[in-house]
Amino acid sequence: MPKDRSIPRSSIPSVDRLLDMPGLRTAAERHGRTLVVEAAREILDEVRRSIATGAETDPGAVEPPVLAARIAARAAKAASPSLRPVFNLTGTVLHTNLGRAGLAQEAIDAVVEAAARPSTLEYDVGRAGRGDRDGHVEGLLRRLTGAEAATVVNNNAAAVLIVLSTLAKGREVPVSRGELVEIGGSFRMPDVMAEAGCILREVGTTNRTHLRDFSAAIGEETAMAMKIHASNYAIQGFTAEVPEAELAALCRERGIPFAVDLGSGALVELERYGLAHETTVRETLAAGADLVTFSGDKLLGGPQAGLIVGRTDLIAEIKRNPLKRALRLDKMTLAALAATLALYLDPDRIAGRLPTLRHLTRPADRIADLCAELAPAVRDGVGPGFDVETRPCLSQIGSGALPVASIPSHAIAIAPTAARRGGALKRLAATLAALPVPVIGRIADGVLILDLRCLDDADGFRAQMAELSIGGTPEK
Ligand SMILES: *Cc1c(COP(=O)(O)O)cnc(C)c1O
Repeated sequence: MPKDRSIPRSSIPSVDRLLDMPGLRTAAERHGRTLVVEAAREILDEVRRSIATGAETDPGAVEPPVLAARIAARAAKAASPSLRPVFNLTGTVLHTNLGRAGLAQEAIDAVVEAAARPSTLEYDVGRAGRGDRDGHVEGLLRRLTGAEAATVVNNNAAAVLIVLSTLAKGREVPVSRGELVEIGGSFRMPDVMAEAGCILREVGTTNRTHLRDFSAAIGEETAMAMKIHASNYAIQGFTAEVPEAELAALCRERGIPFAVDLGSGALVELERYGLAHETTVRETLAAGADLVTFSGDKLLGGPQAGLIVGRTDLIAEIKRNPLKRALRLDKMTLAALAATLALYLDPDRIAGRLPTLRHLTRPADRIADLCAELAPAVRDGVGPGFDVETRPCLSQIGSGALPVASIPSHAIAIAPTAARRGGALKRLAATLAALPVPVIGRIADGVLILDLRCLDDADGFRAQMAELSIGGTPEK
């Protein structure tokens, strides 16, 4: 690298001079002086370093307006939260990395109220004294599932943990080998068992487990039996699992509780909305489960939460576990959950009110219409380096509900023209993800698929495509 620098150090403006520029004065008003000064120091350091190494040779790079623009952008980035909205066009309706279920307006309103004002969180207005925070959802859950009692914690992983820790610490829990699942990396059933202090007793084989396997495994040391919904995979072929009712009867006979981790846990019959059947919480209780655990932000369509329903005595024991205090729901989540559950009291209207169900039931031909309407904006945005067409595709529910079922949908498909293969598609995906409101699709077979099943804000999407206007060079 040439050491005879084409840009003299003296031509680099001072921090003070830069801060005096109108653009940065505005930035200081907006984000505070501290952030802007910090950004200015960082940018000037970077510029000095790249001049010193010879990486920067363009004298234009140290022009005050150029530096000011970079500083303003850096300060704006530092001031803006990294958690922000995106367009989920992946085709996975309940996408764990993108926040799973969106809340119904009623739930959003409840969150805002709970956040802004004091509330009856743990206050019983009738007795003018201390109340139970679970009380805000217990009645609803009993009514919606037929359970005797209910409690709630932070997520379903926590629900499973507290059930095991309460009922089976230091004792054995038989589980079918085919159900020892890993759900999204950090939740592995055997690890949760170990963390709860239980001894996992593997029963049966990977593909076939029989009632007699459980019967032989249950003994003096057995605390409870557990069945786990094989959320994210399906075992097909020569298989056998023990029906819940039979396992429940066996547990009752042997005097141990029977818990089912349902994972997604539908509260209503999904076939009512044209979807495949997913075991409901009510069905599982009716089959004889003493406890059922499920998530709040999967098919239920509410906030992140772990719901536990079942026998009064067992729920009471769980509530006395000191872990309950550590895993309890905060007021905003509780408000959202109560408002979401209340919508289920009117099942005829929930498909229109819960975004998750609304997205899942959106007809493919309507999605196709939306694709046709928005394809021109995408074509203009990505420029002549890409072919843009609309085509049928398949969406999935995600988050472990009906893992092998897919729903006919429609997508805008973007492929690099023959002339520009290579990393063009990956760069385009990165450019879309770097938009002010990131657009997240999925790449399959050399094509970027934008499945519009979950697109609610068509105008906002069009605006992002206008931002794009990269004219076929999605480099920056
Ligand atoms: C999703 C899932 C979990 C974890 O639930 P979170 O609410 O994400 O903690 C546990 N068990 C099963 C069977 C699941 O499907």
